[in-house]
Amino acid sequence: MINNNNESRGKCALCGRTFTEPKEGEKSFMIQEVIDGTPYKFDKMDCIPMFKRLEVYMEMISENY
Ligand SMILES: [Zn+2]
Repeated sequence: MINNNNESRGKCALCGRTFTEPKEGEKSFMIQEVIDGTPYKFDKMDCIPMFKRLEVYMEMISENY
């Protein structure tokens, strides 16, 4: 399941991978993206389109209930 509450700080909203502390001279791989007014954090760019697709899918499911 997607952990999409705001308490999931430090974890990727899609895969749940924790963000590692950036080492000296390295950039942090944390990407923040606002989706439907809610900021989500991702560990890599690939997670963003996948997360959006899942969001649409979840909405479709809930509309059918
Ligand atoms: Zn991820």
